[in-house]
Amino acid sequence: MAKSQSLERKQTVVLKYGVAVLSVGVVALLTHLLFGFLDTVPFFYAAVIVCSWYGGRGPGLLSVVLATLAVDYFLVPPVYSFDFGISDLVQMGAFAVLALVVSFLSTARKRAEESVRQARDEMEAKVIERTADLKQTNEKLNAEISERKRIEEVLRERASLLDLTHDTIFVRDMNDVITYWNRGAEQQYGWTSEEAVGHVSHEINKTVFPAPLEQITTELTRTGRWEGELIHTRRDGTEVVVASRWALQIDEGGNPVAVLETNNNVTERKLAEEGLHKAQSELAHVTRVATLGEMTASIAHEVNQPLAAVVTNANACLRWLARETPNLAEARDAVTRIIKEGNRASDVIGRIRALVKKAPPLKHSVDINEIILEVIALSRSEIYRKLVKFRHQLSDDLPLVFADRIQLQQVILNLIMNGADSMSGVVDRSRELHISSGRHDSSSVLVAVRDSGKGIAPQNLDHLFEAFFTTKPDGMGMGLAICRSIIEAHGGRLWASPNSPHGAVFQFTLPPSAEKRS
Ligand code: ADP
Repeated sequence: MAKSQSLERKQTVVLKYGVAVLSVGVVALLTHLLFGFLDTVPFFYAAVIVCSWYGGRGPGLLSVVLATLAVDYFLVPPVYSFDFGISDLVQMGAFAVLALVVSFLSTARKRAEESVRQARDEMEAKVIERTADLKQTNEKLNAEISERKRIEEVLRERASLLDLTHDTIFVRDMNDVITYWNRGAEQQYGWTSEEAVGHVSHEINKTVFPAPLEQITTELTRTGRWEGELIHTRRDGTEVVVASRWALQIDEGGNPVAVLETNNNVTERKLAEEGLHKAQSELAHVTRVATLGEMTASIAHEVNQPLAAVVTNANACLRWLARETPNLAEARDAVTRIIKEGNRASDVIGRIRALVKKAPPLKHSVDINEIILEVIALSRSEIYRKLVKFRHQLSDDLPLVFADRIQLQQVILNLIMNGADSMSGVVDRSRELHISSGRHDSSSVLVAVRDSGKGIAPQNLDHLFEAFFTTKPDGMGMGLAICRSIIEAHGGRLWASPNSPHGAVFQFTLPPSAEKRS
């Protein structure tokens, strides 16, 4: 490639010098032919102009030299000879200088023309390049515009889909400012999309959160979602309870950009649930009182015993004091016993009062063993009255449970009373009731009440926990149904199974409280 280029360049150079020689030669020939008829000097100038213009400085100079020699040869006397006199020097010098000037001007013009052409070519190239750039940019811009239009179209389609749902859906940015508000939200809250967009969602909805907002936001940022119940206030001032689901939108760089909030109105369901809870707790209360009613004789005995002891001790005390020298030490002991027995009676009455009281359930972290012992204290007389041997085995390594004390007392009391009832007809073996506490798995608590009674007929096993199911002539059939709903409301499970070799076992589990024992 480089070789052929240099060959081409050499050929061009030879051609340019050849043109110089040829053009001067042609004028010389013309001069010879027209000798005496025409002054051919201007033709030499013309040849110099042509050679300089076409060939540049070198061929131009050559043409000047050749033309000067030709002028000397043909036109300066003696003609047809290169000899010349001193006086001709001026004429030849003038010719040569003029030819040089003409050559120089012609070369300069050629150069100027070339640089103009080059500049024009460069300009043209630049214009073409720029046009191509602009075209490319334009194409890119068009592509971007159509892509954006497509995305907008997709978004519009999706947004119109979101408008079809009855759910309330809105999108808010990371400053909680609403950026999208669907038709469901318009209907739910009474604000149009134009009115809501641009407002802080928690302000326009007057949101009441179930936990501090920072805590909720931390969970949202950590897991990307949050679910819970919120209370919102509508435009007309009425309140709605909503089941709310939040989802965090993350951009390509992993930064949170928006939150999609979906809210379902659960106000009516909440009201119904509350009504149901109230009815359940009233029913539980009624059955509790009924159970206590059945135990009246035993309870009276339970209270009478300490009262009788109080009277006995009080008499003894009087006797110690009535002596000639009062025995104060004995009298003090008698008074101490009076206080103890009085407290015992008062404890029994306190427990009964708590069970009879109609109060809404209130959960605390409680020790299940304490609750079992309280129920045992209350039901002991009733159990003995039914000639039942009562034993208990409580594990001292149990977590606290998060529960309503009275409701758990009711469950345990019910299971104990049922166990004692099931043994009323047993005469061929000892009547034994055993209550135990322990761990169900690594964390939850298990309470079991075993009896040696008549057991559960297989066909009844599936119906024991149904409301109004009873095999007792005077039974209500509500005890176990209420017990199960109480345990399930505490996140646990209650079930029955046959005991070996006789009787039945009723067991329930409870999850541990988050609070640890101190
Ligand atoms: P009620 O005691 O008024 O019948 P419950 O709901 O407490 O109502 O009990 C429902 C039925 O379950 C009882 O009638 C009885 O047939 C059966 N049952 C409950 N506990 C036992 C038990 N420990 N052994 C055998 N059967 C039992």
